Amino acid sequence: MAEFDGDLLMKNVFIYSDAFQGYRFSPEHPFNHLRVKLSFDLLQKGGFLREEDIRLPRMATDEEIALIHDWEYIDAVKRAGEGTLSKQEGMQFGLGTDDTPMFEGMHEASALLVGGTLTAVDYVLEGKAEHALNLGGGLHHGFSRKASGFCIYNDSSIAIKYIQKKYGLRVMYVDTDAHHGDGVQWSFYDDPNVCTVSIHETGRYLFPGTGAVNERGQGAGFGYSFNVPLDAFTEDESFLYAYRTLMQEVAAYFKPDVILTQNGADAHYHDPLTHLCSTIDIYREIPKIAHEIAHQYCNGRWIAVGGGGYDMWRVVPRAWSRVWLEMTGNRDVSGYLPPDWIEAWKGQAPVPLPLTWEDPPDMYQPIPRKKEIEEKNYLSLTKSLEIIRNNMKNLML
Ligand SMILES: [Zn+2]
Repeated sequence: MAEFDGDLLMKNVFIYSDAFQGYRFSPEHPFNHLRVKLSFDLLQKGGFLREEDIRLPRMATDEEIALIHDWEYIDAVKRAGEGTLSKQEGMQFGLGTDDTPMFEGMHEASALLVGGTLTAVDYVLEGKAEHALNLGGGLHHGFSRKASGFCIYNDSSIAIKYIQKKYGLRVMYVDTDAHHGDGVQWSFYDDPNVCTVSIHETGRYLFPGTGAVNERGQGAGFGYSFNVPLDAFTEDESFLYAYRTLMQEVAAYFKPDVILTQNGADAHYHDPLTHLCSTIDIYREIPKIAHEIAHQYCNGRWIAVGGGGYDMWRVVPRAWSRVWLEMTGNRDVSGYLPPDWIEAWKGQAPVPLPLTWEDPPDMYQPIPRKKEIEEKNYLSLTKSLEIIRNNMKNLML
């Protein structure tokens, strides 16, 4: 019976391949797609992932990658992966830096991550799934002719162009990575049919330095870019208040046809590269609100990708599992993690693995500047939403 109904009954698709791990700059590099496998395995061992929900990613074609990236750049990435790009040539494309070193097969590995996101897009927009998740994607710092911040090809930017071209839909892109979603924002900065929303740690001290409230878009795209920079040491309540308010007001204003969320998991207290102080709790709330918005405005059409996240043992697997748990109606899962997941990985983990879906209540000392931080964040949120709120006022007059 289940076999016969096949795709008709399928509501959610999980894109996965062990080959995602081919995207590896070096053994010491902080970006490690073993995270995707750890998350996948956690869901499987927890009994939350059925064989029939899993789909392999396809490779993105060169033409698809060229929807965003320059042909010269694609050629440079190919040559970098074949070992025939000189250091000097690489530098003008951001290839061969400390952040994005060259590695063997880097074009193919990057094209597979992009293809994973395009596979997710097609499942949802062909109506074969309601929601789709590609944890291999979310490489939001990739630029048209430049690699940046661990990102080579920008799968989200490519996916949005692909959606516009193939399906003619208006996309709301929501980026909750602790780093500003700069690559995607700049790709659509003058486009009123793509609304980009990014909530991140302020760029004052953190890569990539952009994402100020006054980055609102330009030309016809003015008023379709939203940024809420959060102060260092921001905690859950303030993060979630800003996120929830932003989501609700922007969605009501833009009325998207489809929503694409980037789910970087690096806002957590344990993350070694950022300075926010969230707990694992925000990663239950983030997809929950995205899910609600998708059903309220987009007929459920929701594509989710991964992103940053550099505590890959204690934080990322639990955080990323939450996206899938939300999609599949399992948001209330709590308590102990599957013991066989811990058993399987504890030998490789340099830190003790968490035992439960929640964080311990005493994970960090109280933040003394809490109130001041909350006020600053509130101000950023208010400023970011100025255009929408002024519009509303004018409509009412
Ligand atoms: Zn990040």
